[in-house]
Amino acid sequence: MIRDQASQAALLDDVRAFVRDVAMPAEVRVAAGDAMPEDLVEQMRRRGYFGWSIPEEYGGAGLLTEELAQANIELSQAAVAFRARVGINTGIGSESLIQDGSAALKRRYLPHLASGALTSALALTEPEAGSDATALQTTGVPVGNDAYRLNGHKRYITLAPIADLFTVFARTEPGARGKDGITAFLVERGTPGLTTSGSTPKMGQEGAPIGEVFLRDCVVPADNIVGQPGGGFRILMKTLNKQRINLAALATGPAIRMLDEAIAHARKRRQFGRPIGEFQLVQALLADCKMEIEAARALILETARKRDRGENVTMDVSLCKLYATEMCGRVADRVVQVLGGEGYTAGTVERFYRDVRAFRIYEGTSQIHQLTIGKQLLREPGGRP
Ligand SMILES: Cc1cc2nc3c(=O)[nH]c(=O)nc-3n(C[C@H](O)[C@H](O)[C@H](O)COP(=O)(O)OP(=O)(O)OC[C@H]3O[C@@H](n4cnc5c(N)ncnc54)[C@H](O)[C@@H]3O)c2cc1C
Repeated sequence: MIRDQASQAALLDDVRAFVRDVAMPAEVRVAAGDAMPEDLVEQMRRRGYFGWSIPEEYGGAGLLTEELAQANIELSQAAVAFRARVGINTGIGSESLIQDGSAALKRRYLPHLASGALTSALALTEPEAGSDATALQTTGVPVGNDAYRLNGHKRYITLAPIADLFTVFARTEPGARGKDGITAFLVERGTPGLTTSGSTPKMGQEGAPIGEVFLRDCVVPADNIVGQPGGGFRILMKTLNKQRINLAALATGPAIRMLDEAIAHARKRRQFGRPIGEFQLVQALLADCKMEIEAARALILETARKRDRGENVTMDVSLCKLYATEMCGRVADRVVQVLGGEGYTAGTVERFYRDVRAFRIYEGTSQIHQLTIGKQLLREPGGRP
């Protein structure tokens, strides 16, 4: 749902200008340094990007799902590191707090997340708990009546090396299994017992570090629990339900950018005395990219509108995440093909090809979303969502 067409158009124009004039010219610098320079972070803060999804009463823009999806499709046309730097605050790093946090926690943290003064992270994955998040081994043991002692080890956590505020999931009921007895805690950097690793080397997404989080006798006030003790898994699912639309949008922007690169190349590059864009086999590669990008965009925006109308989108968000991220991988592959050797050698397309590979792994692998969709089809009468 778009509340006001004029202000949404102004927002999208601003993001397009940022991507074109600031982010794209800085992509090589970000990748080479494997870090997002502070001057670029400051520009995103000033433009209000960190607060897109945070309610207006806490200093954010309070964007609805469709408004946020449109903004994410634009911002993600720059290198993935740009949207990763703001996207945890506008996604998994704030959503649990927005949906289920106490009034006191919201007042304490949301204004700083909206301004970008604080950077957030969501710490769920562990060495033994990946796709099966309910296998987590991090524990939270009550200390008196008003605190918990956390012990555990998280890995692959986006922005862990630089984040200020972590949403940590821990088992607080020792006998509980599966989804039961998991609690979400907000833990500030600087809390004794919380440490993080440096940046874990990875295939791409330079400038968007991932790392480990260690919790060793880390005592956290019970007031920092998001929602109710033991209710963490339900909170996580609600957060991811929305985030899957965000991620689908964030996978569509890179596909649009890669297709733009392929079109420009097909016009310029000449073989057999003609631009390669005149060859119909090259045109077919471009057409297939365009067809799938527009299918993803339509699916994402329709799902976002359904969510804004309050409809159940549990299966739709998996369709979005699965389709858009797989689509992005196919587009990346075709675009490398259109560019030939120039696509394989270091450069914009080669960088995107590596960057987007992660989309099919995090926030539910493609296989986990296939299972989710399959189960729901079989559960519903007549296979209807
Ligand atoms: C760049 C990056 C950023 C990340 N950021 C975060 C973050 O911010 N916070 C966080 O908590 N985590 C984060 N993660 C972790 C991510 O969510 C996990 O990597 C993901 O959930 C998969 O877990 P895994 O890596 O342990 O793979 P595994 O679960 O071991 O999966 C390996 C393979 O087995 C398949 N598989 C597993 N179970 C089944 C099944 N039942 N049926 C069929 N196939 C199955 C998977 O689909 C996959 O192909 C990040 C990961 C990456 C790569």
